[in-house]
Order: sequence, then structure tokens, then C-alpha cells
Amino acid sequence: MGLGANGSSKSTTHEIKFTKLFINGEFVDSISGNTFETVNPSTEEVLATVAEGRKEDVDLAVKAAREAFDNGPWPRLSGEARRNIMLKFADLIDENADEIATLEVIDCGKPFAPVRYSEVTISSETFRYFAGAADKIRGATLKMSSNIQAYTLREPIGVVGHIIPWNGPAYMFATKVAPALAAGCTMVIKPAEQTPLTVLFYAHLSKLAGVPDGVINVVNGFGKTAGAAVSSHMDIDAVTFTGSTEVGHVVMQAAAMSNLKPVSLELGGKSPFIVFDDADIDKAAELAALGNLVNKGEMCVAASRVFVQEGIHDVFVKKLEERVKEWRMGDPFDLATNHGPQNNKQQYEKVLSYIEQGKKGGATLVTGGKPIGKKGYYIEPTIFTDVTDDMTIAKEEIFGPVIPVLKFKTIEEVIKRANATIYGLTAGVMTKNIDIANTVSRSIRAGAVLVNCYLVFDRDAPHGGYKMSGFGREKGLEALEHYLQVKMVASPIYDSPW
Ligand code: ADP
Repeated sequence: MGLGANGSSKSTTHEIKFTKLFINGEFVDSISGNTFETVNPSTEEVLATVAEGRKEDVDLAVKAAREAFDNGPWPRLSGEARRNIMLKFADLIDENADEIATLEVIDCGKPFAPVRYSEVTISSETFRYFAGAADKIRGATLKMSSNIQAYTLREPIGVVGHIIPWNGPAYMFATKVAPALAAGCTMVIKPAEQTPLTVLFYAHLSKLAGVPDGVINVVNGFGKTAGAAVSSHMDIDAVTFTGSTEVGHVVMQAAAMSNLKPVSLELGGKSPFIVFDDADIDKAAELAALGNLVNKGEMCVAASRVFVQEGIHDVFVKKLEERVKEWRMGDPFDLATNHGPQNNKQQYEKVLSYIEQGKKGGATLVTGGKPIGKKGYYIEPTIFTDVTDDMTIAKEEIFGPVIPVLKFKTIEEVIKRANATIYGLTAGVMTKNIDIANTVSRSIRAGAVLVNCYLVFDRDAPHGGYKMSGFGREKGLEALEHYLQVKMVASPIYDSPW
């Protein structure tokens, strides 16, 4: 596997228009004037110098969001008015899909085709889905004992802080911002320091769509400064965080120690993908490859423990190897390319160190295992077999193109082993037997179980974790709950005939 002849020349020539903070509807420098660089992971070249916000900038952004919430039009608009602006936003995402996808390619190392035709489309559809919810937020009428009538109001929670990771900023922006907008919230967004560019472009689109000033604010910066200022802010009413379990602890602690703001956390995973003897073996191999190699394995939902029943183990591994070897690296703008570089240097080194641990720990390296080329954070798609539950590569989230394969004998055994993890995000089950599928689906402690499919996401399907994969659900109407308060209003009824 080698680099495509065309390289990625587009990345060095692409004009980056938005690099500042976005506060109260304007692109502004940080108060300190500090900046940081963002790097193209396929060339290791600096793409842009970006304004670096810290606590004082977060304070300004929160002030704007607070004012927009307390006195601005957004929470007071009718649901239809919010819906219409969100629909315009969705149309602008589609009109600018090439630009958004290009920013994701050059800032995140994603291959163009999947981001352009999947992640960006999902983003605009997510806006449309939640636009459709904006005018359907209702309460209930309560049956009270005695002569009291009561009802509930569902009010926007207020100013929300969104802390976003680097593995899919376009998609993540829509996932978090669309339901918050539908609910009538205002917000401060802290993109990951490795990948700020798409979120800034979205901020620009929000203005074109007619989102009022102060409703969406973006403060680029580092986790320990800008991120911590968001999670600990006394004037932010709720925080959503997607990222590592390690930082999830810190965010929740900061929220608790400041103003007890509610948090929702979407954290790490080590998802089992269980292939039974009776499975469609070709499909299983294809999905095991996809489930670990899409987005270079940088997915919290990666199928990162592939359990294979012993009767088909060896045939499955052969087929998996064939599929993995089909993954194509090259010019990220070539539509046939589906493998890209790891998102950043630190992640690249981390994945290579997991590969070393796999080798030293006694797993068998079937294919891959090495960096590719001299430039860019590329790593070969890698398969390990003879992986046992106690090995580091079976326990820790690798977040890279590495597929650990484990053998099992019985359904009881595999359920126990699949659940023996601190995580509980997703699971896959490959079988033609409905009883096996049902038993495993109900036994796995995870937020999603995917039977004879994988990487199945939809704006209508709630996504979130059990255990240390976090809590709260994103997508689906369930996502609105993070952004709404329930208020009960009661009053006495005198002289009512009923
Ligand atoms: P990863 O480990 O995959 O890089 P992180 O969980 O560190 O992911 O980062 C996810 C997001 O959380 C990023 O926007 C990052 O800047 C932010 N972050 C990191 N540390 C903190 C922190 N202490 N408080 C708040 N946010 C943080």
C-alpha cells in the first residue's frame, strides 16, 4: 500500500477563511492575542494559525450567550420560527458540503468521499430532524388529587457548553447544536484544539442562516484552559462532552464543584463484535473491517474486540485479511480513497505503541502493524489474532486501525467476556439464529446492539453509553431532554362542576 501519485496538493492551497473566535456574532481575536497552529495530518504542514481562547474569552462568550438567552429573541421565538432558521442552516450545510468536507479532510485527515457523502449529509439531516421537533415541544396536563389543576412546561435549560472532540467535528457539531437550538438554548462551543476549522465555518453559516447573535459562540483553545473554563463556569447551565473517559471524569467533577450543572457524557468504548458459527461469514468479515477501519478507526463505537466462534475462526480470519487488504490509501480527495492518516501526532504515536504492546503481549500479527510513508500520520490497517482478554489491546481503547480478534466457544462464555469491560457503548452480533440474537441483545450491557449490521446510525436512533462509556443520549428525540427543563405549574380550581 503506498501513497497516491497525486499526494494531497489541495490541502496546501485551500484558503482557510475563519480562524478567530466567534463571539456574539463576530469573528474576534482572543483577548490575550495568543494563537496556536493546526496541522494537516496527511502532510504534517501547518494549515492555519488559530486564535487561542482562554478563561477570559470563555467569560465573554458566556456573557453573550447569557444575554441572548435572558433577553434575546431565540428562546422566545415560536417553534416554527426556530424551525425555519434551522431548515435554512441545513440547506446552507448542503450548499457548502464540498467546503465542509474539504476542511474535514485537511484538518482531521478524513478521506473526502465518506465525509462528503455521509458525515456532512448526516449533519444537514440532523438539523432538519431537530428543526421538525422545534415546534412540537409540549408538556402534559396532570391529574392532581383535590381541587388543583396542573400542567408541565418544557422550557429551554439555558446556556449550554458543548465540548467537542477531534474525530468528527462536523458531525458532532450537528449532533450537539441542532437539538440545543430546537429547544431554544444558547451556547458556547469548545472545539478540539486539533480540529477547530469546521466548527468555525459552521459558525459563519449560522449567521447566514439567521441564528441571532450570541446564540452560537465558539471559543477555540485547549482543554485545560478553555475546556475547563466551560465545564466549571458558574453561568453555564448544562454541559455536553464527547471525548475520553479520562477527561469525562474531570468535566463531571468540574460541573459538580461549580454550579452543579447537569452533564451528558459520550465517552470511550471497547465494543464487542460477536461472530457466531452460523453467521454470514463474508458479511461478518466485511463489517468487522468497516467497524474498525472507517475514519481510520478513530471511532468511539469501533468494533474493537472481534469475538469469533471457534468453528469458523480460521476461515473468518482469512476473509477478514482479504477485506482489510482492500482498504485504499492515497490522495484523500480521490473518491476511491478510504484510509487516511491518524488525526494527530500524539494519536499516531499512541496507536503505534498499542501495536507494539500487541506484539510483545503475545498476539499474532496477521497483517499491517507499521507506519506508511515518510510524511503524514499513516498507519497500516492491522489485524491481531490469538488475542486474550487480559491483553492491553483487548482492554484499552486504541482509536486506530487495529483489529483484535479473540476466539470463543459458547454463547454463555462470550456474553460474559463481552461484558467484562468498563465500557458499554455498542455491540455487534452476527448470527442467523433469532434466539441467539435475542439472548445476546438483551444480555449485553451497552447503549446499542446491532444485529447483522454495524455502524448503523441515524438521527432518529438514540446514541449513548452504559457504564463508563457515559450517560445521556444524543440523537433521537431523547437528545432534546438534555436541553429542556420541566416546570410544573399548579393552581386551585374553585366551583368547577367536574
Ligand atoms: P482525546 O483524549 O481523544 O484527545 P479528550 O477527551 O482529551 O480527547 O478531548 C476531547 C475534548 O475535551 C477536546 O475539546 C479537549 O480540548 C477537551 N478537554 C480536554 N481536557 C479538558 C478538561 N480538563 N476540561 C474540559 N475539556 C477538556
